[in-house]
Amino acid sequence: MKTCLSDLAIFGGAPAFAQELHVGRPNIGDRQRLLARINDLLDRRWLTNNGPFVQELEQRIADLLGVKHCIATCNGTVALEIAVRALGLTGEAIVPAFTFIATPHALQWQDITPVFCDIDPMTHNIDPDQVARMITPRTTAILGVHLWGRPCDVGALTEIAHRHNLTLLFDAAHAFRSSYKGQMIGGFGDVEVFSFHATKFFNTFEGGAAVTQNDELAARIRLMKNFGFAGYDNVTSVGTNAKMSEISAAMGLTGLESLDDFVAANRRNYIAYRAGLQGTPGLQLIVYDETERCNYQYVVVEVDKAAAGISRDELVRILHAENVLARRYFYPGCHEMEPYRSYFPHAGLLLPETNRLTQRVMCLPTGSAVGPEDVETVCCIMRLAVENSRRLSNSLTARQEGLHP
Ligand SMILES: *Cc1c(COP(=O)(O)O)cnc(C)c1O
Repeated sequence: MKTCLSDLAIFGGAPAFAQELHVGRPNIGDRQRLLARINDLLDRRWLTNNGPFVQELEQRIADLLGVKHCIATCNGTVALEIAVRALGLTGEAIVPAFTFIATPHALQWQDITPVFCDIDPMTHNIDPDQVARMITPRTTAILGVHLWGRPCDVGALTEIAHRHNLTLLFDAAHAFRSSYKGQMIGGFGDVEVFSFHATKFFNTFEGGAAVTQNDELAARIRLMKNFGFAGYDNVTSVGTNAKMSEISAAMGLTGLESLDDFVAANRRNYIAYRAGLQGTPGLQLIVYDETERCNYQYVVVEVDKAAAGISRDELVRILHAENVLARRYFYPGCHEMEPYRSYFPHAGLLLPETNRLTQRVMCLPTGSAVGPEDVETVCCIMRLAVENSRRLSNSLTARQEGLHP
């Protein structure tokens, strides 16, 4: 255990971890079950094009989420693009800027203008009151993001969308197996889109899915993800190739069998972080609603420099030196990345909470590859940094040149 500043790796101490602890290390299910499925698909020589594993995965996910249709895709971003296109959006869509860049990109890719909306500082999710204020005659949709797996204010957004006759869709990339008011994420709005990327709670190496209760929309999405083929030799509309492969579906079917283990590991780590950071001034850990289903995939910490005496960026630097690869999220905000920064140079004026959080939020390593002792060591480093923040900040500033985030 590190007890004084000179123990910190940034001041020459040995790093607390010999191997790097990553954010978003993949959750992997039972290896033998996966390899057996891979043998099956090789024996079948059915590697892609709506194979039996993809069909089974779609059915299992639809059952788990209680939705009528699940369309598996090669990744979440393309699923979002196809959803946007299948919904026939035009003009503008209201979207948070505090999200992964794929969210606004999926709109822009279809020539829909993303209009960035501020978030509720408590939930980090899009603020329905701000949404209502940003609606213009050009607005055709609201695209909410269930950030960190915590659901948006679905009720308020549904009401606003209904009142203004807008399409409502959700980027549910973080929210697989989460619930809102007891109902699984996936059944809300016109369509919800998941990512099954390797770093997500549940993965298919790369992959994603669009889920919806709407039969017609599901049929359009199915056509679009397969070049517009309505049957052999029969193309009825423009489409793309967004098919999930059988090996991805094999990974997905295997992962589904271990979802409870993934949650248990994440929750165990989350509770250890909560205990380890309890009472440390200026560090606020994300709060999950324990009455809902939630995947605990993100250990999010907000750093208040005024109270902690140390900034988020300084803390990230200290942790990196210890081989704890904490990440700044979402930094910079989407409105500060291209092309949006050039298109809307003043967008930030309407995004005070987003701007505040992009400076304060970081994510810590968790998942089945991280154990409670690891968590205790990470917390010890963070406590040490905060307890000695004044001395630390001075020396960090003096030594800035040698340090990389
Ligand atoms: C990961 C992610 C995506 C993109 O999903 P991919 O499967 O990587 O294409 C979209 N939105 C959010 C919020 C994400 O975190």
